[in-house]
Amino acid sequence: MMVTNELKEKVADYHYTRLTSKEMQTAMKVHTHVRRYLGDYLFKEGFVEIPPVILSPLTDPLNHPTLDPVLTCYGHKYQLTKSMIFHKQLALLSQEKIFCFSPNLRFECEDKAESGCHLFEFTQLDLELKDAPRDVSMDLMERMYVGLMQYCKEALSEELGFFGREIKVPSKPFKRVSYTQAKEEHGPDFEEVLSKEATEPFWIVDIPLLDREFYDREDPEQEGILRDMDLIYPEGFGEASSGGEREFEYDRIVERIHKKEQDTKDFSILLEMASKGLSPSSGFGIGVERLVRYICGFERIEDAALFPKVPGKLCI
Ligand code: AMP
Ligand code: MG
Repeated sequence: MMVTNELKEKVADYHYTRLTSKEMQTAMKVHTHVRRYLGDYLFKEGFVEIPPVILSPLTDPLNHPTLDPVLTCYGHKYQLTKSMIFHKQLALLSQEKIFCFSPNLRFECEDKAESGCHLFEFTQLDLELKDAPRDVSMDLMERMYVGLMQYCKEALSEELGFFGREIKVPSKPFKRVSYTQAKEEHGPDFEEVLSKEATEPFWIVDIPLLDREFYDREDPEQEGILRDMDLIYPEGFGEASSGGEREFEYDRIVERIHKKEQDTKDFSILLEMASKGLSPSSGFGIGVERLVRYICGFERIEDAALFPKVPGKLCI
């Protein structure tokens, strides 16, 4: 696409108006409180914050198409981080519990521009716990989520009032819904249907193997089903988080790469390290902009980001 002077002026006007608005000022206040609350929560739980990785030969293959630029530096090929999944697993060679506010670059296809919940640059609060079964991660998420909603209600009443937003503090444990059963009952858009009906967040579990990436651990007791979980927001806000247990044994990782018809060569450094020994772990990633969008009750994710990167658009 040609970047004309007219387009540049339009983009500059758009950003100038939103950056000087009370809405943006207030949304960023919520944003900063959310990040601070979550970071402090994890610090108190003994987590170590690791710095983000932006470039690596190794990144998440994802389970949906994205446009993936490759950068060649010093004769080596680097990708932009789509998620820090493998770096999280590797960081557990050094630490027991880690988290990162991780910028993710996923050049999503342009049909996602109107979804209201996709950006091509966003931040995940991504965390991983060594030797932790899935329930440990789910319990952590539930405690942190409930704590955050309580905190927002008290500390941000003025800001939420400005947006006319009332949030509900959910009760624990959150409901667990089987992926297969929900799909049978509500069809392929079951997540959207159930999110719209829900008044409290809920989990989707029992996700089929080929619906997700190779690194998610297959349930040793249910062939073809993963030890995964998605957290879904109520009120139609859709997916909040994905997570699960991980494959960590060399042979299992190779088998799973083959099942996805991917190439082991693309993951050779990971496999080399897995052959030396990785630990079992579980964890999850929660999108920060989607979280702020939910808390503020915004229709579109752009309103929760200072410099939103909308798929297909010229952004700053
Ligand atoms: P995933 O592992 O792909 O499920 O990503 C983890 C979380 O990051 C999701 O549950 C969302 O909250 C968030 N996320 C994923 N993709 C995007 C996107 N394109 N824009 C904004 N947030 C996203
Ligand atoms: Mg997901």
